[in-house]
Amino acid sequence: KPPADCPVDKDQLGRATWTFLHTMAAYYPEAPSTSQQQEMAIMMRTFSKYYPCDYCSHHMREWMNSNPPLTKDRSSFSQWMCSMHNEVNVRLDKPIFDCSKVDERWLHGWKDGSCD
Ligand code: FAD
Repeated sequence: KPPADCPVDKDQLGRATWTFLHTMAAYYPEAPSTSQQQEMAIMMRTFSKYYPCDYCSHHMREWMNSNPPLTKDRSSFSQWMCSMHNEVNVRLDKPIFDCSKVDERWLHGWKDGSCD
């Protein structure tokens, strides 16, 4: 395993990026203004263009064409992000994540108290 201060590979980048995206969705406003909703939708579209993994970016943009960002409120945005990640999980043969647990995973910690 290379030292921690080396450039990242696709999987390290993916884990770091999902951490950012799900946490950003977890802290998105409960009642965003119209301009916040528009900004976040633009941010996700722009993000998908510049994600530094060509085929990941390609798939993400295709998926977003039929699943435009849902930025109406915190819950819809978190669920939308979870669906996007699950689409990648399916493609990579990884387990599907139960989206009803997204707030436990990324906001409050597990109900069993293991994150307290
Ligand atoms: P990751 O998939 O990185 O997940 C990290 C953690 O998120 C998991 O441990 C779990 O606790 C949690 N989690 C898992 N699923 C969900 C979910 N649905 N909702 C909420 N939380 C969840 N790799 C490729 O090989 N091909 C691609 O096309 C590709 N596209 C990508 C597109 C994007 C936008 C991103 C951010 C990454 C992409 N990756 C792609 C990388 C890939 O998704 C993984 O990040 C990488 O394979 C490492 O996987 P992992 O098993 O460590 O967990």
